[in-house]
Amino acid sequence: AAMRQTRIKKTKTVCTFCGVGCSFKVWTKDRQILKIEPVEDAPVNSISTCIKGKFGWDFVNSEERITTPLIRKGDQFVPATWKEALSLIADKMGSIKKKEGGDAVGFISSSKITNEENYLMQKLARQVFGTNNVDNCSRYCQSPATDGLLSTVGYGGDAGTIRDIAGAGLVIIVGANPTEGHPVLATRVKRAKKLNGQKLIVADLRKHEMAERADLYLHPKQGTDFVWITAVAKYIIDQGWHDEEFIKARVNNYQEYLQLLQRYTLEYAEKVTGISKEQLIETAKMIHEADGTCILWGMGVTQNTGGSHTSAAISNLLLITGNYGRPGAGAYPLRGHNNVQGACDMGTLPAWLPGYQPVTNDEDREKFEQAYGASIPAQPGLDNIQMLEAIEEGKLKAMYLVGEDMAWVDSNANHVHEILSKLDFFVVQDVFFTKTAQFADVILPAAPSLEKEGTFTNTERRIQRLYQALDPLGSSMPDWWIIREIAKAMGADWDYEGPSDIMDEIASLCPSFAGVSYERLSGWNSLNWPVQEDGTDTPLLYSEQFNFPDGKARLSLVDYVPPVNMAAEFDLVLNNGRLLEHFHEGNLTSKSEGIQYKFPEVFVEVSRKLAKERGVKDGSLVRLLSPYGRVKVRALVTDRVHGNELYLPMHSASHQHAVNLLTGNAVDVRTNTPAYKQARVRMEVLEKD
Ligand code: SF4
Repeated sequence: AAMRQTRIKKTKTVCTFCGVGCSFKVWTKDRQILKIEPVEDAPVNSISTCIKGKFGWDFVNSEERITTPLIRKGDQFVPATWKEALSLIADKMGSIKKKEGGDAVGFISSSKITNEENYLMQKLARQVFGTNNVDNCSRYCQSPATDGLLSTVGYGGDAGTIRDIAGAGLVIIVGANPTEGHPVLATRVKRAKKLNGQKLIVADLRKHEMAERADLYLHPKQGTDFVWITAVAKYIIDQGWHDEEFIKARVNNYQEYLQLLQRYTLEYAEKVTGISKEQLIETAKMIHEADGTCILWGMGVTQNTGGSHTSAAISNLLLITGNYGRPGAGAYPLRGHNNVQGACDMGTLPAWLPGYQPVTNDEDREKFEQAYGASIPAQPGLDNIQMLEAIEEGKLKAMYLVGEDMAWVDSNANHVHEILSKLDFFVVQDVFFTKTAQFADVILPAAPSLEKEGTFTNTERRIQRLYQALDPLGSSMPDWWIIREIAKAMGADWDYEGPSDIMDEIASLCPSFAGVSYERLSGWNSLNWPVQEDGTDTPLLYSEQFNFPDGKARLSLVDYVPPVNMAAEFDLVLNNGRLLEHFHEGNLTSKSEGIQYKFPEVFVEVSRKLAKERGVKDGSLVRLLSPYGRVKVRALVTDRVHGNELYLPMHSASHQHAVNLLTGNAVDVRTNTPAYKQARVRMEVLEKD
């Protein structure tokens, strides 16, 4: 027994399945995952986890993993050595850079990989290729929230910690479904409601589990959140319920903001959003009466043509009611991927250097130029969406993509497939052979989180270390190693021995990471950025200052962007989102047998009313058609959706059912984030009653 005991290894890791950032011990024996043990020391979750964190890990041993570099030969992929793959990449990308310039190359990083790996991705783009064409998948989800916060309060992150939310008198959740998307955070909110009498308002198209629990449920029409939020702000001011002292001392633009509010009367809001005047007044009253309001929001807000404006409107509402700078108040965008916060923090963004230092700011840019010994363009590069356009126009010739399945997750997926096949040279790096990998010239096998070291930053800006539990499978390698080797093959003198060296460089170049080091993050220790040089971190933002030179917040003066118009024949609203059991498109969890067993295939939720009108019953096969594509699925008749609104979960084990075959080309006006939530379809019932 003693011998058996010694072979069991217990390693601290951080969950990769959502932005909550739970940490726990993973018990392994050789490559076998024996159990997940949450412990009290874990700063976010203590002894809790959800089903994904507890049971979602067997994908690491999936036979479908890529375990060797692959090089395209005609229609085939042929196994290759690392040496062959790296020199082919350096050769092809090098000659494209030489012939067409660095801006003919695009870099897509990942919200699943570590901070250090993201940092290296942007460094590869900027130092080795001299381009700002680098982006990450937050472009598909969270960029509008970051934009709305950067423009109003100055930091693109949650205002406080997840624990702080428990201290709020009122929690408002807009366009998010934390029970399924952020399970452990949801349990915190549920507990606070039960034990502290915290009030809850949920605004969502779909009456999901959290909405069932709410004191007040608001059902806005698709894409109209800006209007009800702004009307509530106006009503609060009209009643004299705003925080005048706070505004005077800490907020700019108030007079201009009052002008903007004029048209947002309750009558107008009722007409546009479908939410009754009484409910709007009730919402305003609840904010007025609450001791502290936190607003949590997700992709129901951000994935709209006005996603960034609505995010700013949320922040405006919090500012005029004095709801920033203390625990139990403030803005909480709910980050989706485990490291979407970190990927953005690390500057895999076309307009931002690491630590949100703008490429357009000469001083910041010159600091990086000096450190990198290279010149960096002063203009922002292309984002994900613009890179696709540039490929279509023949301007972008090569792309290096890490941990992202564009051919599946991008809106209007059929069109994306055509575009990707036009690239002269395409490198895809992933754990599995993704849909996107089919378009690659070289595929590089990456090691998932359990097989490497690094740090992730969760939704509350908390940086946490993960330790290596398993060896990389086959010839797969950690992403940081692969990126480093590509840079070296291109002639760069990168000598990082491991992620800790990379973090030291990040700390030296980013004031908000100045005091971050692997030593300070050892074991269960964590730090919420900004972190001062002496190691003092900032769980709660804005207690004294907002992040602008004058220390004051800025009310945003952006206006309502109505949803896109669609031909009348597409008469049904197609909402989409997550289910508890799965991670994003299911690209890791669909390789987990237990989870696949519980949730074998996707379905579409249909309201009772619509089901009756169209003769749909539970399990009927229906076809959904949009101007962009078609999908055949079985129906689930439910009370969660209303009237002409459908809900299609975004995780589909087979590409034939992917919701993104149906979503269109409209994007958020400021960030280019696809308006996934503004899809419309018509429905053919293939099996009638
Ligand atoms: Fe992982 Fe999120 Fe579940 Fe926590 S709540 S265990 S981070 S998926």
